[in-house]
Amino acid sequence: MTDKQSPKFDVPMDRSRRRFVGGALASAVIPLMAIAPAQAQELVKLSEDDAMAKSLNYKHEASEVEHSSFKGGQACKNCALYKTDAAGDGWGGCAIFRGKAVKGSGWCSSYVKG
Ligand code: SF4
Repeated sequence: MTDKQSPKFDVPMDRSRRRFVGGALASAVIPLMAIAPAQAQELVKLSEDDAMAKSLNYKHEASEVEHSSFKGGQACKNCALYKTDAAGDGWGGCAIFRGKAVKGSGWCSSYVKG
């Protein structure tokens, strides 16, 4: 065994390193490929009657909110947890309501200043 060989497999080190790097890249890329279709899936519009929406005082129109922590001007569209309205229909994703779309003009008690 020379100093350029892997001690475990008796393979030249360059080849062993290439395999390791290739394996590491594949490990990183494959999960990303698996995530992409999930992110591209269409979001279901959140209902105000949804149990979690009710527990977080979600309303489609912030102007209708009567909650002690609500401050004028707050809305989903300027919340840090809002994800861009990709469809251009006024609804976007929300980090709290995963898989659901919330209305840009809406609000809930988990609002985070964006
Ligand atoms: Fe809207 Fe933010 Fe509440 Fe999500 S967390 S529903 S974006 S106010």
